[in-house]
Amino acid sequence: MSEMPSSARVVIIGGGVVGCSVAYHLAKLGWSDVVLLERKRLTSGTTWHAAGLIGQLRATANMTKLAKYSADLYGSLEEETGVATGFRQTGSISAALTEERREELFRSAAMARAFGVPVEELTAAEIKARYPHLNIDGVTGGVWLPSDGQGDPANIAQALAKGARMRGAQVREGVKVTGIARTGRRVTGVDWTAEDGATGHIACEAIVNSAGMWGHEVGRMAGVTVPLHACEHFYIVTEGIEGLGTLPVLRVPDECAYYKEDAGKILLGAFEPNAKPWGMEGIPESFEFDQLPEDFDHFEPILEAACNRMPLLAEAGIHTFFNGPESFTPDDAYHLGLAPEMDNVWVACGFNSIGIQSAGGAGMALSQWMEDGARPFDLGDVDIARMQPFQGNRHYLFERSKETLGLLYADHFPYRQKATARGVRRTPFHAHLLERGAVMGEIAGWERANWFAEAGQEREYRYSWKRQNWFENAAREHRAVREGVGMYDMSSFGKIRVEGPDAESFLNHICGADLAVAPGRIVYTQFLNETGGIEADVTVTRLSETAYLVVTPAATRRADQAWMARHVGEARVVLTDVTAGEGVLAVMGPKARDLMARVSPADLTNAAHPFGHAVEIEIGMGLVRAHRVSYVGELGWELYVSADMAGHVFETLWEAGQDVGLKLCGMHMMDSCRIEKAFRHFGHDITCEDHVIDAGLGFAVKTDKPAFIGRDAVLRRKETGPKTRMVQFLLQDPEPLLYHNEPIVRDGEIVGYLSSGNYGHTLGGAVGMGYVPSFGESAADVLGSTYEIDVMGVRVAATASLRPLYDPKAERAKA
Ligand SMILES: Cc1cc2nc3c(=O)[nH]c(=O)nc-3n(C[C@H](O)[C@H](O)[C@H](O)COP(=O)(O)OP(=O)(O)OC[C@H]3O[C@@H](n4cnc5c(N)ncnc54)[C@H](O)[C@@H]3O)c2cc1C
Repeated sequence: MSEMPSSARVVIIGGGVVGCSVAYHLAKLGWSDVVLLERKRLTSGTTWHAAGLIGQLRATANMTKLAKYSADLYGSLEEETGVATGFRQTGSISAALTEERREELFRSAAMARAFGVPVEELTAAEIKARYPHLNIDGVTGGVWLPSDGQGDPANIAQALAKGARMRGAQVREGVKVTGIARTGRRVTGVDWTAEDGATGHIACEAIVNSAGMWGHEVGRMAGVTVPLHACEHFYIVTEGIEGLGTLPVLRVPDECAYYKEDAGKILLGAFEPNAKPWGMEGIPESFEFDQLPEDFDHFEPILEAACNRMPLLAEAGIHTFFNGPESFTPDDAYHLGLAPEMDNVWVACGFNSIGIQSAGGAGMALSQWMEDGARPFDLGDVDIARMQPFQGNRHYLFERSKETLGLLYADHFPYRQKATARGVRRTPFHAHLLERGAVMGEIAGWERANWFAEAGQEREYRYSWKRQNWFENAAREHRAVREGVGMYDMSSFGKIRVEGPDAESFLNHICGADLAVAPGRIVYTQFLNETGGIEADVTVTRLSETAYLVVTPAATRRADQAWMARHVGEARVVLTDVTAGEGVLAVMGPKARDLMARVSPADLTNAAHPFGHAVEIEIGMGLVRAHRVSYVGELGWELYVSADMAGHVFETLWEAGQDVGLKLCGMHMMDSCRIEKAFRHFGHDITCEDHVIDAGLGFAVKTDKPAFIGRDAVLRRKETGPKTRMVQFLLQDPEPLLYHNEPIVRDGEIVGYLSSGNYGHTLGGAVGMGYVPSFGESAADVLGSTYEIDVMGVRVAATASLRPLYDPKAERAKA
């Protein structure tokens, strides 16, 4: 073995397609000191046996952008490196067997149009014309994606490795990373052992964990949690079939199957609903180009359906039965980015069986992020910071991974909840809510009441693309909040205490708003990045001279706290996650004050407790901190109560509430009310790539306070005017439903897509929000156009507004 380096700018751990792509892209950016270590041979983990499907359409615009980038890259790598990647643009067909699936596919076709991916909707007969071997009995329709393709996974990885080497990266095989040295929040180097027994250490400035299904174990060495678990993943390859011809890739998700023609044979792969987790006791040290034992019983139902769907399979002999392990994550999205626990540990693993099609884009995005120290665009879907510490629990991962593999081909119904590994995080009101009919959903492990069933009503979701079984329940909850009083549990929202002598100056440095306010004031604000993009959307309450409470969405608490921790510098502050310590009940609606008067002696008039203030009050025999704010746009209070008194306070409110018609409400109600008010939803309507001015949140930024992150970008954008504007839409036909990603059509042209959507029960139709490019235009110009929203290929007329369609003057919350 030639001499190993003793130092590197970055050590990439793992030489599958993903590690090779990261090395390639870093080298392409001019990083000269890149070392990739592979414990065995390149591609010998999962990459070598992938089926090689390379699709382009993903569930969001940026994920689609990354997949498209991969396909373009693989098409050009051969010329650049001389290594044939086998990339062919064969196109792909997805065929539906139910009306619901047809709607899903047609909605995704509309989305593809918004994302610039060529697409065509097909009838069953048109599918048959493109795929003559298919039995179209029961086929309800499908879509054709002409730019999808397929390639040779191992050669794609080898081409990337060669491209990296050509630019100076060192790619070393047979060298395993056995330890990772760290000081504080930084790794300082890696220990390695070679196959010949040699050992050594490479000092480095950063590492990339691209160790595939070993990523969890490598993460532990680096002090970071990488939630993933390997599962067995199957396909068969037939003997050669005469006269097969060249065929596109075919997916029949309702039968959990995909078909790929390659060299006159058919590869039939499966995404079965109950997968088999593998490697609980660790992955054998000897693992290299290995396969797992056949399990024909497990595969048989898929094969049986496939023989009916593609009768020629029944005649063809099976040449190969393949079973290989692949890693799956709790939410079926891969892990990318800077691990929240450390400041120089980068992660790119857990690719959920789409690692080949994702590797090009993921490697490009991660490298750019490493180069700039900032995300090149929103990567919230895959950012490792979305994961919670508990999600590294192996038992949890084992249970959840049974479900995630099959989810890839399951119906992607709106509001679909995970069925496995539930009940891990419960709020102090959990049992009280269940007793009263709550139907729970889950986010970041938290069980949250999404809606309340009536007595005798089934307490389960019945999913559909049309109105689901809880639609009327949510409508009643919505009306209670708009016309009477409703109560809902907000305990899952993240709560971070910021305490210390520098708390005020620290928060003023990272927030757009001015936090030099009196104790008791509540401030709505954003954490901005240097380009004016929104990193977090929070409310901050000043509790005392030296203490603040930052409240964040449940899903982003960890990312938001990591952002804060990385910007603390020399400031004398302590950050503490106190989410579990306090329960929060929101009491909202025009009758909220009546209810509060029945349970508390406190003066809650506007004069004594105005909007935007928090005060401690008595409720029953307990104490709560009452925050006068509202995410539903009504008069009301969010009541923060320490966990020990939460049950008492709930019962007190519930009993008193019987006299004023108090209704328990869920998160579906909250989202429906917030979208009528055009309140932005972080992660959908506002992300790190959306400028705070374009988002219409300039009012929350105070540029006349001392310097803060993003100030210059805000001043610049105020001078030039917004590039795009966040517009709220109301469909004029009350029937169609909006979810998000539906194309926005302005004067007949697609100009964007909805970032969020829901039904507005007060406005009387589906409501959506989305950005409309408007550089150099006035508000009147933007509103002067006609707008339609493309719902499943049908253009539906929409009313557009730059002010909230519900209560535009924000009078109700201040009533
Ligand atoms: C049956 C099957 C079919 C598939 N079909 C497709 C498909 O059609 N399309 C698609 O896009 N994807 C597909 N995939 C998924 C795809 O193969 C994976 O997502 C992808 O290969 C993952 O690449 P990776 O680089 O993350 O992991 P790997 O290829 O497993 O690479 C990780 C590497 O890290 C090395 N390593 C681990 N620990 C250390 C250490 N301590 N030191 C040094 N090196 C270490 C390992 O030896 C390994 O080589 C399929 C997967 C399977 C199983």
